[in-house]
Amino acid sequence: MADEQIRFELPQSELPRQWYNIQADLPRPLPPVLHPGTHQPIGPADLAPLFPMALILQEVSRDRYVDIPDEVREMYKLWRPTPLLRARRLEKALGTPAHIYYKYEGTSPSGSHKLNTAIPQAYYNKAEGVQGLTTETGAGQWGTALSIATSFFGLECEVYMVKVSYQQKPYRRAIIQTFGANVYASPSERTHAGRGILAQNPDSSGSLGIAISEAVEAAATSGGKYKYALGSVLNHVLMHQTVIGEEALKQLEMAGEYPDIVVGCAGGGSNFAGIALPFVQKNLTEGKNTRIIACEPAACPSLTKGVYAYDFGDTVGLAPMVKMYTLGKDYVPPPFHAGGLRYHGMASIVCELYDQQLIEARAIPQLDTFKAGVQFARTEGIVPAPEPTHAIATVIEEALKCKESGEKKVILFNLCGHGHFDMAAYDAYMSGKLEDYEYPQAEIDKAMAALPVI
Ligand SMILES: *Cc1c(COP(=O)(O)O)cnc(C)c1O
Repeated sequence: MADEQIRFELPQSELPRQWYNIQADLPRPLPPVLHPGTHQPIGPADLAPLFPMALILQEVSRDRYVDIPDEVREMYKLWRPTPLLRARRLEKALGTPAHIYYKYEGTSPSGSHKLNTAIPQAYYNKAEGVQGLTTETGAGQWGTALSIATSFFGLECEVYMVKVSYQQKPYRRAIIQTFGANVYASPSERTHAGRGILAQNPDSSGSLGIAISEAVEAAATSGGKYKYALGSVLNHVLMHQTVIGEEALKQLEMAGEYPDIVVGCAGGGSNFAGIALPFVQKNLTEGKNTRIIACEPAACPSLTKGVYAYDFGDTVGLAPMVKMYTLGKDYVPPPFHAGGLRYHGMASIVCELYDQQLIEARAIPQLDTFKAGVQFARTEGIVPAPEPTHAIATVIEEALKCKESGEKKVILFNLCGHGHFDMAAYDAYMSGKLEDYEYPQAEIDKAMAALPVI
């Protein structure tokens, strides 16, 4: 048997020194972000109560590359560069001639890609004298990452955790508290937004949109002591995640390959963008022709069934309005949806790429995602977080197409986190408690009728 290499490691000296900013290469600029009250384009001053100026400037920057501060790079070294692996055992099990590679972001201290942006966000806030950060968390991964980052920089941290997760994931909550953050079940009585939702529906199980409203309000009314941090969706967040794809480019070069297909799961779009944008750049500027596929849940099909329109970023309407593929700000996921990726909208950058047909999108029913996750676990030995199983389902489908056609395509995907804190979801799947759920068109139509008029 040939001594085949399946693990591609970069030395620490190869850790990227810059993030890649796709705004420099987009064929047309991103649509402006609008003020939720006036519906006028917002400027840096409007965002200043929520974010430090360095991040606001990154949000609108057209510079192709932005330097990663030394202190951030030092912290990245705790786990970066992350490994690229060839899924040789999965290939064999599928009997496919395709070469399947995955970038493994589950090696970070928080267990997912989220720390790639949590650390620079905490860094820039600290540098501008902020005392603490507020945020929301759904499945709990973002709250974990931000609480690690704030503890590194000596910042306080207030996490509004979607109530159903708070109740169902006590260990996630305990991890966040271990890093010193305060965690509140959302909707909470702590904010005007939360009290309003509870008055309408005392049994509300919460949603990401509601938790964002609470966290934004808490920062905006703190008199400058606190600012707000978002774990996905925003341009600067997607830019921080490009370290994933930049490393993968070099590692595939070590393997002597270039991808025909790049796949990522998409909730708000950050890990997908992280692996995909450096390859989108090659498509745009170097004549490469890689297919790039974003995978989302059939229960939350923002790209594949949503409408490209201005909508609020949160449920109450405090956050800026963004043009995005949206299911409407009142979207609440079905309670038996176990796969994460529950945000009603999608990152503006991902939406523009999709609208310009520079990327593809697919919606996957949850039973298919868990089936793929279990197959991956049994061949590669890693239990994936439920989110990346959406990508894995697509990778398996593409690899089986290669089996039929005999094509030896190179497929790369982002294994953006491990599933060690999501075993209740696997348990529900294995005991037959999960069902498929397609988000009903009637709900979408209703939400579209309620979109803000611009
Ligand atoms: C948060 C999270 C996601 C969804 O967020 P994106 O911004 O779409 O990446 C996906 N996978 C994991 C493991 C996460 O923690």
